[in-house]
Amino acid sequence: MAEMVGHLHGEKARFCERCGTRLGVQELEGQLRPICPACEFVVYRDPKVAAGVIVTLNGEVVLLRRGIEPSLGKWVFPGGYVDVGEPTGVAAVREAKEEVGLDVEVEDLLGVYSYVGVQVVLVVYAGRVTGGETQENFEAPEIRTFQVSDIPWKELAFQSTGEALRDWVKRYKA
Ligand SMILES: [Zn+2]
Repeated sequence: MAEMVGHLHGEKARFCERCGTRLGVQELEGQLRPICPACEFVVYRDPKVAAGVIVTLNGEVVLLRRGIEPSLGKWVFPGGYVDVGEPTGVAAVREAKEEVGLDVEVEDLLGVYSYVGVQVVLVVYAGRVTGGETQENFEAPEIRTFQVSDIPWKELAFQSTGEALRDWVKRYKA
């Protein structure tokens, strides 16, 4: 049993962060895990926490078309990765400003969305716009508002996007 473990956010490590040797793979506790053949350092990959917020302008939900991979060109509400030490609600507000140019406040926790085999755990809030103006940018080359009946369900970016929007419609628009 290795005595050292590492927790890694993000992409898979290729080299041991302790001694620099190229990592191998070994089954430990029923999971294939990266392990250093030299010093037995085991890499445990942690989930990545993301936060998003669903807001409306004139009663229509604000979505952006993604300008970067993954899911380039698909629609999603504002959101992104939470920084270490950053409250999830603060991250959702920050991402809304960065991605669509709107000042928002988070109001209710809508839900937490996680899936088998998916590294991202998404925390979604319902919020309201307090200021700012939509501003397209490289992350969000198109920003639009949609009536519930026009939400592009078949062109949404992630499984969590559709599930959160469905939960939001059920709670606020049904
Ligand atoms: Zn090592």
